Parts: sequence; structure tokens; C-alpha cells
Amino acid sequence: MAAYGAQRLAAPRGTRLVLGNALVARLLLSAIHLGVDLRFGAGATGLRLEGGRVAAVETETGSLAATRGVVLATGGFSHDPQLRATLLPAGACDLSPVGAGSTGDGVRFGQSAGASLVRDNLHNAFWTPLSHYRRDDGSQGMFPHTVVDRGKPGIIAVNADGERFTSEAVSYHEFALAMLRAPRANPAFLLCDRRSLWQYGLGAVRPFALSLARHRAHGYLVEGRTLGELAAKLAIDAAGLERTVARYNADARTGVDTAFGIGSDAYQRFLGDLAQRPNPCMRPIETAPFYAIRLHPSDLGTAAGLLTDENARVLDGAGQPVPGLYACGNDMNSIFLGAYPGPGITLGPALTFGTLAARHLAGAATPA
Ligand SMILES: Cc1cc2nc3c(=O)[nH]c(=O)nc-3n(C[C@H](O)[C@H](O)[C@H](O)COP(=O)(O)OP(=O)(O)OC[C@H]3O[C@@H](n4cnc5c(N)ncnc54)[C@H](O)[C@@H]3O)c2cc1C
Repeated sequence: MAAYGAQRLAAPRGTRLVLGNALVARLLLSAIHLGVDLRFGAGATGLRLEGGRVAAVETETGSLAATRGVVLATGGFSHDPQLRATLLPAGACDLSPVGAGSTGDGVRFGQSAGASLVRDNLHNAFWTPLSHYRRDDGSQGMFPHTVVDRGKPGIIAVNADGERFTSEAVSYHEFALAMLRAPRANPAFLLCDRRSLWQYGLGAVRPFALSLARHRAHGYLVEGRTLGELAAKLAIDAAGLERTVARYNADARTGVDTAFGIGSDAYQRFLGDLAQRPNPCMRPIETAPFYAIRLHPSDLGTAAGLLTDENARVLDGAGQPVPGLYACGNDMNSIFLGAYPGPGITLGPALTFGTLAARHLAGAATPA
């Protein structure tokens, strides 16, 4: 704490970097040591082609000649309304990447140079359920329900008919796709009893929260003394909800989810609580009061992007490389074509194809 205090005297944030911050900082340090010329506040506005080859990047502060080539890495098109409307399903929110960027610049620059945008992936974005909460300072926060609550025992998701529509413990991508597919599941409702709320939390409501007043006052967390009261407050079908919870509770006692097989594979059990037997993802919902929050489907980033080859070279409609043009990260079409086999499906390929693009630009041999 003392070290952090000392850092804050000199900087607007703590300077001990961990996780992604540390990774990027180390990369930056390498770039500085190698004398890389870094420009800030110089947003790219387009590419300049000479004789069919990408020869320069136009920026807000002038032209940058590309002696070897240009790597597009502007983060996909999550924040571009036009590309969203064309490529993503209606009714989904726009979460990510949080902050600026992802306005589709890289995709548009690529297309202006003749590149091909892949449109027919299994899914054109990676998806997550999301809830909107209010922070202490009044600003709106967005909570992506990736791995912390959905798979825990005694937490279920229902639609407006009070019916479950998927196993709650599948990947966030599969869960949100189920929300988009199921009737009356946007918004959906993540629901539990007092015991599970205390032990596992629910979205922005932390486990072991001594006071729920703030989240209740903002309407984020809805409370009911009975399931019927909760259903009435959420405008969902009370009889449907009571039927669903009765069946879930009976299944929880045997450990076999007869509706959706929650906890039936290693991924799902990992998101549960291994102390809970016989099924780490199930426990009867029976300790009043009952709680729920609203979930919306949102993208975590786009999967559709520019068609590339094994060296991250951008390809045109005929499958030929656009001379001098590369793409990686979300500007490159997902190598998983929008399927979610497991964690890291965006950052892993981003790092890998960034490296491959750099090796190719440097003229290094392609690894086998
Ligand atoms: C909450 C959340 C959790 C996630 N968790 C995971 C995870 O666990 N594992 C995983 O693999 N992925 C995860 N992802 C996805 C991952 O973060 C993104 O896929 C990844 O950051 C995309 O990298 P990128 O380099 O393509 O784009 P970004 O990281 O968005 O970087 C693009 C950069 O380009 C800049 N830029 C944009 N336009 C221009 C322009 N015209 N000129 C100059 N600069 C420009 C932007 O400002 C930005 O700095 C998560 C995403 C979210 C939102």
C-alpha cells in the first residue's frame, strides 16, 4: 500500500504492472530499446497505394511511408453501426472492446486496397451475457458474465416465460447465442436464492456483500420474498418460474439436470463449485429471499475480419495477397471462424499472427 501511495504521487495510476498491462509494457520497453519510432495521437485515416502496393499510411498528422508493409490491427468493428447492422444479429448490445477504437477502420482500409472481408463465419462475433449496473460515482458499468457466476450451484437463467433455455454453465459465447436463439430471452434473468447470492455473488454484486442496498436501489438487483413476488417484479410468468424451479430443485437433489445437462462435462464442472455434490453446478433454490438480475447478449469483439494467409498477409477476392498489407487481431478473420473452443481464442491468434506478420515483413523464414 505504501509503495502504491508513493507511485500515485508521481503518476495518475499505480505503476506496478501485472497481467495484460505487464505484457504490453514489456513489449513497449523492447520497442523503445530497439529505437522504434512510436507516434501517439496520430489516428490512421487510410492507406496510400502505389502500383497496387500499399506504400503508406495516411494519419491525422501526416503520411507514414511503408518501406516493407502495413499491419492492420485496429480491433475489428464492434463499434461501427453500419458493419454491425450488416454482419451481426439484431438486438445485441455493444460491449467491447471497452474504450475507443474498434470502429472498423482496419477493415475499411483493407477493403479500399482490394482486400476481402469474410462474412460467412459460423458466427461473426464472440458473445457474452452482460448486465448493466450503476457504479458508486453514478456512471454506468457493464458486467460481462464470463466465468464467475452462471455455473455456480443454485444459479439459473430463465426467459420471460420463467423457463430455462440452456445449461447456465456452458461457455459465455454459447450461453449468449442461446439467448439470441431462445424466445423471450433478451433480456434473460439470472436468478438465485439468498444462500447462493451470499456465497457466489451475482454479476456486479460481490460474494459476501454485507449490504445490497445500492444495487437494489438502482434496480440492478431485484429481490422477492417469494418466487411469485420476484416474477411479478420482473414481469415474468410466475407459474412458469415456479414450475422451472421445482423441476430444477428435484434434479439438484439427484445431481442430474434432466433439462439441459448442466455440469455434464469438464468445462461446466470447472465453472461450478467442486465442494458441491453430487453436481458442482446444482443446488436447490429454496432459501428466501430470491434475487435476479437482467442479462443482455453482447459481443466481446468481432470474429469476422479480413481474409489472410498463414503469414497474416491480407488476401483479395481472388485469394491473392494484397502487396504490402497484413492484418492481425480482430481485423483478421477469426481462425476459429467464430466458434469458441476455449479461452484465448482471440488473444492467442492475435499474438501468433502478429509475430508471423513481423517475421514475414522482416524476411525471416516461415516456421514449419
Ligand atoms: C471484457 C473482455 C474480456 C475478454 N477476455 C478475453 C480473454 O480472456 N481471452 C482472449 O483471448 N480474448 C479476450 N477478449 C477479447 C480480446 O480482448 C480482443 O479480441 C483483443 O483485445 C483484440 O485485439 P486487437 O489488437 O485486435 O484490438 P484492440 O486491443 O482493440 O487494439 C486496437 C487498437 O487500435 C486502435 N485504433 C483503432 N482505430 C485506429 C486508427 N484508425 N488509427 C490508429 N489506431 C487505431 C485502438 O485505439 C486500439 O488501441 C476479451 C474482451 C473483452 C471486452
